[in-house]
Amino acid sequence: MRRLMVIGLDGATFRVLEPFAKEGIMPFLGSMLARGSRAVLRSTDPPYTGPGWSSFMTGTNPGKHSHYDAQRRTLDFKGLEPVGYHTLAGTTLWDLAAEAGIRIVLLNMPMSYPPPSLNGIVIAGALTPPGTVRYASPESLVQEIEREFGRYALDVSWASFDPSHRRALLDDIERMLDQHERVFLWALARQRWDLAVVVFVTPDRIQHGLWHCLGVDGPVAPGDEPTRDRIHAIFARLDSAVKRLVDAAGPDANVVIMSDHGFGPLKARVDLNNLLADFGLFAFKGGRRLVDTVGKRLHAMGLRRSHLATALRTLGASGGFVDRLEGGNRLQGAGSVTDWGRTKAFCLMTNGIFVNLAGREPEGIVSPRDYEALRDEIIERLGDVRDPHSGQRIIFRAQRREEVYSGPYLEYAPDVVITEFDERYHFHFFPYSHYTRAFNPPGRATGNHAYEGILLGAGPDLRTGPMPQARIVDVMPTLCALLGLEIPAEVDGRVLEGFVRAPCVPTSATRGVSARRRGLAPGEQEALERRLRGLGYL
Ligand SMILES: [Zn+2]
Repeated sequence: MRRLMVIGLDGATFRVLEPFAKEGIMPFLGSMLARGSRAVLRSTDPPYTGPGWSSFMTGTNPGKHSHYDAQRRTLDFKGLEPVGYHTLAGTTLWDLAAEAGIRIVLLNMPMSYPPPSLNGIVIAGALTPPGTVRYASPESLVQEIEREFGRYALDVSWASFDPSHRRALLDDIERMLDQHERVFLWALARQRWDLAVVVFVTPDRIQHGLWHCLGVDGPVAPGDEPTRDRIHAIFARLDSAVKRLVDAAGPDANVVIMSDHGFGPLKARVDLNNLLADFGLFAFKGGRRLVDTVGKRLHAMGLRRSHLATALRTLGASGGFVDRLEGGNRLQGAGSVTDWGRTKAFCLMTNGIFVNLAGREPEGIVSPRDYEALRDEIIERLGDVRDPHSGQRIIFRAQRREEVYSGPYLEYAPDVVITEFDERYHFHFFPYSHYTRAFNPPGRATGNHAYEGILLGAGPDLRTGPMPQARIVDVMPTLCALLGLEIPAEVDGRVLEGFVRAPCVPTSATRGVSARRRGLAPGEQEALERRLRGLGYL
C-alpha cells in the first residue's frame, strides 16, 4: 500500500480553479489538471459543508450519518443541535484505517471535533467550539502547536463578510492559511503516516462574501480591482501551500484533491417560512410587521433562550424556570415568532421543509392522515414559485424525503427537500433576522453553494484524464480501494473504477467498526451556535 494524501478544498469549484490555473494564478493546480484524472464531484442534498464532508467521511447519505445541515434535529425532535464528530453516525474512513493499523494524520477536517483518538494525530477543523483547548488528539499536541506557532486559528475570526470590512476578512483568511500551512507541514513531518487528510477552508471563506470580486464571471466592478488582485494572490498562496504538502508526501504517494460542494454567484435569499406563509401554511405570531420589530430587537441583542438558561445556570440558578427556558419547543429559540397553532409546515434547514406533524413535532397540528396530501401540495406549489422580478421558475424539483435519503436517521430529515433549483438562489430560514417577504436581496453575501465540486487525482495507482461525474459518497469507498480496506456494507458509494488502477476490494458483509465518539463539554454547544451565527448559518 502506498501513502495516500487527500487535500480538501472547502467550496472549490472548476468555475474558479480552471480560469485561475489557465491564468497562471494556480500553476500547481494547473499541472494536476494536466497530468492527473479529474471529475466533477456532485455534493449532497443540500450541497453544504455539514452533509458534504460527513458523506465524504462515511461514504453514506445523510439518512445514515444524520447530518442534513450545520444543525440537526435533536433525537427528541424538540430542539436543534450543531453537528460535529459527536453527532456523526456510522464508520469513517479513518475508523477503518485505524482498525487496520494504518497511521493517520487528520488535519482541519470540518466536524472532526471532538477529535477522535486514532493511530496518529488529529487537529480538529471548522465547527470546533471557539476557545477550546482540546482541539487536538493526543491532547498534548495543543501545547506543542501553540508554543511553536502561537494561538491556533480554528477558523477565521472575522466571518460576518461585511463588504466594508473586506480587507480585515482577507487579512484574517490569509493569516490563517499561512499558519495552517506551517502547522500542517510540521504535523506531517512529526508523525509517520500512511494516510493524511488535510482541509483548507480558504475558497469557501472568500467566495461567500466576495464572489463578485473573483473576476470569473467577467470583469469586476470599477473600484473592486484591488480586492480582486488580493484574492488572486491568496489563491496563489493556497496553490503553493498545496504544492508543498504534495511535495511532503513524496513522489510515490497517491494524491487526491477534492471539495465538499461547489460555488457560484448568489442572486437572492429565499426565506422558506415566508414562502410557506404566502402558501397559507406558516403563520407568524402577531403577523409579519411584529416579526420585523421583535426580530430586529432580538437580533441586535444577540439573545437566545438557551443562552439565558446557560447564563442563569452559571449563576447557580436551577429549577423549573430554567428547565422551561431550555425545555419545551426549542426549535427556534427566543427569536421564534412562529404561531405553531396555525403552522402546518416550516423550514429549519437549507432546502428542507418539515410538516408540523402531530405526535412528532412539539406543537404539531397536522394529523398523520393529512401528511401525504400536504406534502403533495407543498411539492406542487414549490414548482410554481417564480422570481417576482424575472418571472422565471426557480425550483425545478422538490421531493419526498424517502426519495432522496435512506437509513436509520431518515425520520430526522426534512419531509420535503428541494433538489433541483436555480443555484443563484439560497433557500433557508432566518429566525433571528427580520425578513417579511419570501424574496430578499443577497445582503452581504455574493456567493452561494452549488452542487458541482471537484475531484482530482494523481499518483501511481490513479488513472489519468477526465472522468464522468462522481458523487461525494463514492470518494470514501474509492479511497478504501487504494488503502486495501474492506468497504462496509452500509456504504452508499461505489469505487470509481475510472479513477483508480487498484484492484477492486470486495464489500464487507459486516457493518463498519463501531467507533467511540466523545461528547461535548458543558458550554460547547452554545459556543458552536454562536459560531454558526457568525458564519451566517443561523
Ligand atoms: Zn463547505
